[in-house]
Amino acid sequence: MTARSRTRSEAEFERALKVIPGGVNSPARAFGAVGGHPVVIDRGEGQYLYDIDGNRYIDFVGSWGPHILGHLHPQVMSGIEEALKKGTSFGAPTVLESELAELVAELVPSVEKVRMVNSGTEAAMSAIRLARGYTGRDKIIKFAGCYHGHVDSLLVQAGSGALTLGAPSSPGVPQGCTADTLVLEYNDIEQLKETFSQAGDQIAGVILEPVVGNMGVVLPEPGFLETVRELCTQHQSVFIMDEVMTGFRVALGGAQQRFGVTPDICMLGKVIGGGMPVGAYGGKAEIMDAISPVGSVYQAGTLSGNPIAMASGIATLQCLRETNPYPELEAKTQRLTKGLSAAASKAGLPHTLAECGSMFTLFFNPEKVTSFAVSSQNDTERFARYFQGMLDRGIYLPCSQFEANFASTCMTDEDIDQTIQAAEEVLQSIG
Ligand SMILES: *Cc1c(COP(=O)(O)O)cnc(C)c1O
Repeated sequence: MTARSRTRSEAEFERALKVIPGGVNSPARAFGAVGGHPVVIDRGEGQYLYDIDGNRYIDFVGSWGPHILGHLHPQVMSGIEEALKKGTSFGAPTVLESELAELVAELVPSVEKVRMVNSGTEAAMSAIRLARGYTGRDKIIKFAGCYHGHVDSLLVQAGSGALTLGAPSSPGVPQGCTADTLVLEYNDIEQLKETFSQAGDQIAGVILEPVVGNMGVVLPEPGFLETVRELCTQHQSVFIMDEVMTGFRVALGGAQQRFGVTPDICMLGKVIGGGMPVGAYGGKAEIMDAISPVGSVYQAGTLSGNPIAMASGIATLQCLRETNPYPELEAKTQRLTKGLSAAASKAGLPHTLAECGSMFTLFFNPEKVTSFAVSSQNDTERFARYFQGMLDRGIYLPCSQFEANFASTCMTDEDIDQTIQAAEEVLQSIG
């Protein structure tokens, strides 16, 4: 197959570069890790994206997670349309906010009360402030390779095995902002125990992705989440599960339901908004009531609980609850990942495939990826060639080895076959 023409995308991107830093409103969209310029999207429909040159792609990005039901889902669109007729924002309570909060509390095991915000980043920032305010302690444990949005105190360089005292990984983050962030290696139970035994009474909380999606998909080893739970209970620290990616994705009740480990607070985002900007943090009522206006931990938002965004989220969660698409979606994803693995083996390429539900990563790394230390050994140059080859064949993958791929409920057997076929060709050619 020949590379498709993307001349209009090229021209539009040149235009964007003049007025938008790097031409993008979020750096993950730039093709920095794979070369070339981003595809400029005209519209989505179900499992497909169409670019402004008229090319069609099978979409494994799904807006980086939200579109588990695909684009333009009829139930979600009609929810949004109904809400739109009444106005776009009031800055006063609406029925829709309680409806979405009730759905979240019903579906997510740890949630008794929930506060809506506008992004995962905002949810992380607020959850951390809450953990600190509630405990009266300052230190937060995070794990290398976990991403919790661009919150100052969590933008900390990945440690290399040893416990690293936070050094900011972005200019503009003062040293002081990360001084209370302890960075540990994901899945390292011993290191975690040791840190708690040394500093347990200073630790406000532990924040983690229960399945990591932001160093490629990395699963928790047996006992890891359970140990975090035990240590947090023992030392009265707040266990914060960042389910922005995994919430309503790896199971209806998220990773906490799938793995049977309940945090004190969890963060939600992506799927919860069905494609509109929504983030949320929720958990035990006793902890949540420490935030304003009941408690004194301040957090606010002019557009928080926006009615259009709430309507989109309600329709999405209702649809997921009614249809329970998870078993079928997971089976479909497994057929795809088996096909990708087989194609990589046939081409003689060292690889591992990590997956959980409908999220997966094909790593160009022969070793099982359990931590950032291992993930950073991937052959990213080979990934770049894989990515470009797939794009040329109408398969839209995340433009980084370190991002999760997502399947959606509208993908057909034909889409899966077409993706495997493309991967066979591309992987052969880059072997
Ligand atoms: C995407 C993501 C975030 C950040 O959410 P934004 O809406 O982009 O601010 C935080 N945590 C995890 C696990 C994510 O995947």
